[in-house]
Parts: sequence; C-alpha cells; structure tokens
Amino acid sequence: MPDAARPPRHVLILGGTTEARRLAAALAPEPAGAPEHAPEPALRVTTSLAGRVAAPRLPAGEVRIGGFGGPEGLARWLREHAVDALIDATHPFADTISHNAALAAATAHVPLLAVRRPGWVPVPGDTWHQVTSLDEAAAALPALGTRVFLTTGRMGLAHFAHLTGLWFLVRSVDAPEPPHPPRMEVLLDRGPFTVEGERALLRTHRIDVLVTKDSGAAATAAKLTAAREAGVPVVVVRRPPVPDGVPVAEGPQEAAEWLRGLFSAADSH
Ligand code: NAP
Repeated sequence: MPDAARPPRHVLILGGTTEARRLAAALAPEPAGAPEHAPEPALRVTTSLAGRVAAPRLPAGEVRIGGFGGPEGLARWLREHAVDALIDATHPFADTISHNAALAAATAHVPLLAVRRPGWVPVPGDTWHQVTSLDEAAAALPALGTRVFLTTGRMGLAHFAHLTGLWFLVRSVDAPEPPHPPRMEVLLDRGPFTVEGERALLRTHRIDVLVTKDSGAAATAAKLTAAREAGVPVVVVRRPPVPDGVPVAEGPQEAAEWLRGLFSAADSH
C-alpha cells in the first residue's frame, strides 16, 4: 500500500527515444477525468532530453532539457531532486550519457536500469558488413559503392567528409552542419518509414550502398528490407556495450515491471 505521508516516488528517465516516451506515457498517464477528480499520482516522472533536436517530441510527465555537466552534475541532480530510480532509455549509441548514468547512479546510490531494444539480426538475402565505428564504416564504403544512403545521423557526418569521390543521400532530423561530404543531398525526416517509401528512395537516387547504426528500431527497419530486396549492401555499425553491471530491460513494459519490483521491495522493508 502506498504511504499517504510519503511524496510520490521520483523516476528520472534519460530519454530521446521512442522507448523513453512510451515508458513516460505508461508511468505518468494523463488523468482521464477533470483535474479535481484526478487521483494523487503514485509516481513523479521526469524525462531528460539532451536538447539536440530543435523541436523534440515531448513525453508525458515533467521534462527537463540540456546536459547535466558530466557524471558529477547528474549525481548532484539525482540528489537534489530526490530521485528514487534512474532509467537510461537513451539511444543505444548514446554512449557517454550511459556511462555518466552508471557513474552517477553509483555515486548517488540510486538504482539504475538501462532500456535497450534488441538489435537487428541479418536474415537470408542480406549483405551486411558489420563495423564497430563510423570511421570503419567510412573506410569500408569505397569498395562497396559510389552512391551512399547515409542514415547514421547528422552528428557523425565529419567521419565521411573526406570521401570526395562518393555521392551521399543524408537523412537526418535537423539540417547537418559542416564538415560533411562535399557531394551530398539532405533529406530532413524523422520517420517512421515504410518499405514502399524506402524502395522508392533507393530507386530514385540509384543508391548502391546503405550505412546504418544498429539502432534496432522498428520505425527505421524498413530500409533494411528495401536494401535486401534491391541487393544493396548494408554497412551496419555495431552498438557499444552497456556499461558493466547495469541491468538491461528490452522495452518499456519490462522497465515498468522492474520499477514495480523495486518499489514494492522497498515498501515491504
Ligand atoms: P552522448 O554522446 O551519449 O552524450 C553527450 C552528452 O550529451 C552527455 O555527456 C550529456 O551531457 C548530454 N546528454 C545526452 N543525453 C542526454 C539526456 N537524455 N539528457 C541530458 N543530457 C544528455 O549522447 P548523443 O549520442 O549525442 O545523444 C544525445 C541524445 O539524443 C540522447 O538523449 C539520445 O537518446 C538521443 N539520440 C541519440 C542518437 C544517436 O545515434 N546517438 C539517436 C537518436 C536519439 P552532460 O555530460 O553535460 O550531462
């Protein structure tokens, strides 16, 4: 039973992903009735966004935007805002914040869970070249094609800037800034994408190689199907590992169960 005298437990979600938005919606649903009839919330949910995207999709609950100032800043934030649980639901490639979260949670003695959707798995018909960094992806490209569909995001374009002999179709949420490849066309879009749409893109732009991070997202998986059908090779950048010792949930539902278990164990003590 929740203790009426205790303030609602505070969950901080490190966000910027669909999973983070879904988790916030599951934990902090909008009250269905008029505000005066709304029940006392059992949880206070805050989502933190890095502030990289100009017009982010805002999650349910409270939102804060911007960096914390390294692991020390995050640890301070956890203490000052009396956070009871920290959920790292950032993108699988947001490596720095995930390491900061592990350090800060240990310092502030706050339980931490990472939410990581499963990665993509190649199926028969795929021609995947798996690499571990954007530099390796760039090094692999000249041997694979000349017209590249680059979907690794605007932040890493500098790694491809020296490839003057290749043409790039770059898809990103916001417009990229230099340095970037000299021969490129930019497509501003954030998905979700359809197989039909991806097929048309590959055909219209005569793409002969695709570069992607293994984000594992359903919303962006259609390009892999389209590439398989068209016989287009795919350079897949593998994910960095989750920091040592951090438990992992595959999705928002599992994360919500972890929180329930955590708080009911604390209640019974
Ligand atoms: P990163 O390299 O791991 O983090 C760099 C710095 O950005 C961190 O040290 C932290 O600054 C700040 N930061 C990152 N995520 C934050 C968050 N959720 N709330 C507050 N500060 C945050 O991160 P990134 O790869 O640039 O990604 C930034 C954000 O975009 C993440 O939230 C991620 O979920 C989202 N995203 C990333 C990708 C990707 O491919 N990397 C794709 C889609 C969405 P301080 O040290 O000052 O705290």
